[in-house]
Amino acid sequence: MKLGIVGLPNVGKSTLFNSLTKAGAESANYPFCTIDPNVGVVAVPDERLKLLGDLYHSKKVTPAVIEFVDIAGLVKGASKGEGLGNQFLSNIREVDAIVHVVRCFEDSNVVHVDGNVNPLRDIETINLELIFSDLEILERRIAKVAKGARMDKDQAKELAMLERVKERLEDGKLAIGFETEDEDEEEYFKNLNLLTAKPVIYAANVGEEDLANDGADNAGVQAVREYAKETGSEVFAICAQIEEEISELDDEERQMFLDDLGLKESGLEKLIRASYHLLGLMSFLTSGEDETRAWTIKQGTKAPQAAGKIHTDFERGFIKAEVVNYKDLLENGSLAAAREKGLVRMEGKEYVVQDGDVILFRFNV
Ligand code: GDP
Repeated sequence: MKLGIVGLPNVGKSTLFNSLTKAGAESANYPFCTIDPNVGVVAVPDERLKLLGDLYHSKKVTPAVIEFVDIAGLVKGASKGEGLGNQFLSNIREVDAIVHVVRCFEDSNVVHVDGNVNPLRDIETINLELIFSDLEILERRIAKVAKGARMDKDQAKELAMLERVKERLEDGKLAIGFETEDEDEEEYFKNLNLLTAKPVIYAANVGEEDLANDGADNAGVQAVREYAKETGSEVFAICAQIEEEISELDDEERQMFLDDLGLKESGLEKLIRASYHLLGLMSFLTSGEDETRAWTIKQGTKAPQAAGKIHTDFERGFIKAEVVNYKDLLENGSLAAAREKGLVRMEGKEYVVQDGDVILFRFNV
């Protein structure tokens, strides 16, 4: 699962990306790896893991992870090939969701590409480039389908839908929120893989003074919140600079720092968790002496497919799953004690795995 960090130059993308990858490297045992300088693997904060790991005296604790990609280079005119232009846009096409960083902090030492701080204008600049790029894709697809549409019912149906999406984009709206009329349309729409159909989190990069009350006094942040509401997106007030400082501290210092700022957790932790949910993901857990681990699945995944995340043999030979909620397990102190109370269930092929299930799979090899 990949999230792309986008935004205009100088809004704090790299600062945020660096703090994400640094925090990921330090706060978890996960062997943080840099795939390339612009891609970082980040652990999803999950306090359940430590507790379970302690219970089982696990040698290793492995969190779920998501990938962040720092996508630099979007400027006005990118869809026309300005800056890194099309290369940038194709990088975005590969991500599952977007973190759009918007500058809401004032700092005369940091130049703004358009002269002054204006979050809504910035968002619209970027979104317009994404819309242009999507329109190009639509036009290409329309040209292709239009030929067959006279003879072929399916293509005629697709064409009608494409025209509706095109109209929407030409109105300056994002593709996300477009209502498909049936499953065929949904399929056509998905296959387009439009940039503006991807879920977005707006990361409002605020100054330190705006952190404690979550940007409530910052008119720019408020404007972004209004905008996001219309498009069904989420907004987080974050201070990239502070996050970078926090990411350099050890656990104890970090806690003190956060307490001083009146915060429960770092902005990054909030952001990572929100991204995870935005992608429709959740974790089930496995625990034993060797390892306690969180596994990422999509919400609605059934037991055999969840088993397949661990090993394809587990899915093929799936017999049943022994399931206990992590809270029940922790409260009772052992699997045996939880079992005695009837809190451990045997579930079959149709069981839909729940967030926080601790599972032991039974399977044939
Ligand atoms: P990018 O071009 O979007 O990747 O922006 P950078 O992360 O390189 O940040 C541009 C400049 O803004 C750098 O000098 C950062 O130190 C500064 N900066 C980033 N975040 C903040 C912030 O939250 N507050 C302030 N005052 N400066 C910031």
